Amino acid sequence: MNDEYASVVYQVLVRLGYGLIKAAEEVQAESRGEHTPIAGLPTAEEPPFPPAPPQYAPLPAPVPDQFATCPAHRQPWRLVPAGISKTTGRSYDAFYACPTRGCDQRPPRDWRPQ
Ligand SMILES: [Zn+2]
Repeated sequence: MNDEYASVVYQVLVRLGYGLIKAAEEVQAESRGEHTPIAGLPTAEEPPFPPAPPQYAPLPAPVPDQFATCPAHRQPWRLVPAGISKTTGRSYDAFYACPTRGCDQRPPRDWRPQ
C-alpha cells in the first residue's frame, strides 16, 4: 500500500465518519421533534393508503305487509267502490274492508295493496 492510496482511504473514512455523525445528529434532532419533513415525502401522520371506505349499515329485511289481511278473519281486504250511503244519504270514497259480512275491521286509511 503506497502513501497516495493510504491517503485516499483515509479521506474516504473521514468523510464516512462525518456522514455518520451528520446522520446521528439528524436522528437526534428528529427524536427531539425538530425534524423538518422533506417536501414530497409522506409524513408519519399521513396514512400510507387511502382511507377505508365508509361502512354502510345493511338494509333491513323487507317486512311483510302487516295490514294486508283482516286481523280477525285473515282474509285480504276487499275494495268497496265509492258510493252513497243508504242510511245517511252521504257520498263516500272507495275504501278497503273485510269481505266477511258484519266485520267492521279496516286497514289504515292510507293502506294500499302491495
Ligand atoms: Zn274481518
